[in-house]
Amino acid sequence: MRQGGEAEAPASAATDWLRRNRDGGARPGGAAPRPGRALRRALGAAVRLVYPAACAACGAAADAEFGLCPACWRDAGFLGGLVCDACGTGLPGTDPGEPVLCDDCLALDRPWARGRAVMDYGATARRMVLALKHGDRLELARPMGDWMAQAAAPILVPGMVVAPVPLHWLRLLRRRSNQAALLSARIAHRAGLEHVPDLLIRARRTPSQDGRDRQGRFENLAGAIRPHPRRRARIAGRHVLRVDDVLTSGATLAAATEACLQGGAAAVSVVAFARVAKGG
Ligand SMILES: [Zn+2]
Ligand SMILES: [Zn+2]
Repeated sequence: MRQGGEAEAPASAATDWLRRNRDGGARPGGAAPRPGRALRRALGAAVRLVYPAACAACGAAADAEFGLCPACWRDAGFLGGLVCDACGTGLPGTDPGEPVLCDDCLALDRPWARGRAVMDYGATARRMVLALKHGDRLELARPMGDWMAQAAAPILVPGMVVAPVPLHWLRLLRRRSNQAALLSARIAHRAGLEHVPDLLIRARRTPSQDGRDRQGRFENLAGAIRPHPRRRARIAGRHVLRVDDVLTSGATLAAATEACLQGGAAAVSVVAFARVAKGG
């Protein structure tokens, strides 16, 4: 087999494969020595078929499996450097060496201890969260959970129990999966912590949080989340890491946190995939 075009290009497996095949190495039956347009088209389709790296957000070509393409990467707004210790929002300035809170968390007095998020809720986060939520791409729980475990690393403590915010069973039935539970399972796996997907339950069905102002969001959830009666022993005295996909007002996480504390948890911390910036 001839090594064609031994030049410059950073050769990926797919371009190598295409080159070898274009040069006649692996054509079935050895027929048709001239690669015509149809053959080239077929080869192109085959390369797309065998080339696995697609952007996790938009499906365009990416460098690595579950990576992001350059455009989605730029849009992602990964939260790093100085962040609010309660919600993970990015803050200006350099790390003063002690926990800092954003204006939002100073004003709201969050019931949980610490919190982190992976990225701002921009186009990239939105695409990934919706694809996971609507069950189109459940495999996204893996990269998203991995990034969340990484973002949460500074707030993890030994013996922590990881649990998602619960969905009401009717909503669970409609969606078929609780996206927060998929994420929390992956985080627990990555961090080597215990995962209890039904630590909390939705005691009543709550209308959607969409379109409500901040106070409405908190009122909507009052008393809606409770510890699972058969999981009390798993909460008592433990530090719980609550997992949700998006942190907006924090009403859901606050209700879930209060339920844990009522259930005897020693402390609660939270991690979300995306943080909606203040005012969102
Ligand atoms: Zn992309
Ligand atoms: Zn904050």
